Amino acid sequence: MPEIVFYNTLGRAREPLAPLVAGEVRMYTCGPTVYNHVHIGNLRTFLFEDVLRRALRWLGFAVHQVMNLTDVDDKTIAGAEKAGVSLDDYTAPFVDSFFADLDALHVERAERYPRATTHVREMIELVERLVERGHAYVKDGSVYFRIASDDDYGKLSGIDLDQVRRGERVADDEYGKDDVRDFVLWKAAKPGEPSWDSPWGPGRPGWHVECSAMSMKYLGETFDVHCGGVDNLFPHHENEIAQSESATGAPFARLWLHSEHLIVDGEKMSKSLGNQYTLRDLRDRGVDPRALRYLFLSVHYRQKLNFTFRSLAAAAAALRRVDELRFRLAHAAEAGDPDAGLAAALETVRADFAAALADDLNVAGALGALFVFVREANKIVEEGRVGQGDRDRVLAALADLDRVLGVLDPAEWKVGAAGEGDAGVGLSDEEVEERISRRTAARADRDFAEADRLRDELAEAGIVLEDTPQGTRWKRG
Ligand code: AMP
Ligand code: ZN
Repeated sequence: MPEIVFYNTLGRAREPLAPLVAGEVRMYTCGPTVYNHVHIGNLRTFLFEDVLRRALRWLGFAVHQVMNLTDVDDKTIAGAEKAGVSLDDYTAPFVDSFFADLDALHVERAERYPRATTHVREMIELVERLVERGHAYVKDGSVYFRIASDDDYGKLSGIDLDQVRRGERVADDEYGKDDVRDFVLWKAAKPGEPSWDSPWGPGRPGWHVECSAMSMKYLGETFDVHCGGVDNLFPHHENEIAQSESATGAPFARLWLHSEHLIVDGEKMSKSLGNQYTLRDLRDRGVDPRALRYLFLSVHYRQKLNFTFRSLAAAAAALRRVDELRFRLAHAAEAGDPDAGLAAALETVRADFAAALADDLNVAGALGALFVFVREANKIVEEGRVGQGDRDRVLAALADLDRVLGVLDPAEWKVGAAGEGDAGVGLSDEEVEERISRRTAARADRDFAEADRLRDELAEAGIVLEDTPQGTRWKRG
């Protein structure tokens, strides 16, 4: 097993993974604010975290992942008020659509998804500890964290606090702060807003304190890994560290992993540019979530990912190459001893795949190893070298790598999932190819009635055939 190394934002250096409890990784991943449908940028981050957990499991660790749902903050409160419904009624459909998006992209479930609104007691306790220890102060029913009380504030982001000017304009509801740099832990209730009772009067938690309270409740005061998108680094994660370590005196998360942003056509996603896509938007345009998952996997998490429709097509083409290998293998005759070249290629792909994952989760490198193998295996099929049991060995290897990738098995990605409006008459790639090969066989036998019947059956499922000298090509109509 190779040594597993990650780039730690805390300290800005690569370091070996050394979990507190051998063989077990406890990780916290900042979740969505459920005031809206998540966009594909958020999904990139959630997918990175999914592959991280899958890779850690594949590399032999037990994983305990916690992801919060932010169901109370300024945006959810404003949304509920505008819609004239309760906070819970307002956020419920967005929670549902978040999980539906995760399912559509085959993101594995975390062990827990705690909601902010059901953990207010824990947040109040944390704020009380900070007040007791002199790290927080109360003003007009709100509680603020005193940044000057925390010597190593800034250690994650490297921010120069003097640059955060003291004279900056302060949000109307935070005018009580002693220092403009201090941040709110508990907000006094405004009339008509949802609120909870606290030692400081009715109010609600600040966003940062939510993640500190819920991560420590489920993972302990010190845990292994904390993830999020780069935009969370400052102030959110910096503030999480400040609150947690000031309250407990113990180190908070040890390894901080930040995924870079997704951009669209080279630009930041924004409502005004009309390029802020949700998964539903893309599916309405006929995008296959399987290709999207592949595209997200193909760029290292610490690099910006430029989403274009062209790159999606390239992702779909890459997947087709793996599907074609499966198809060819299914039709190859097995004869003689297992092929020695294949046995060597199987060993190489596993070792290279593991080495890439262990190197700061280099999934793009792992995919590279996979395609070296696909090329090799195709050659073995073409040269008629497939021996007894080789087909199953290849399929087992693909299934094994797919425990990390979650994208290689076409049977798990039902056709017809590409848009809710589909009639569900879809055939999987394998089913299409199985019919095409039956049709080819029927034509070779001059059974044209059967060949036509198969063509009609495919046409009904929206599959367009094109007979070329090299064989039958197909596409989805
Ligand atoms: P939010 O609901 O805004 O708290 O975001 C949920 C997660 O998505 C956080 O980890 C963010 O850092 C991440 N995120 C937000 N925008 C993007 C983006 N354009 N690309 C990648 N991740 C993002
Ligand atoms: Zn968070």
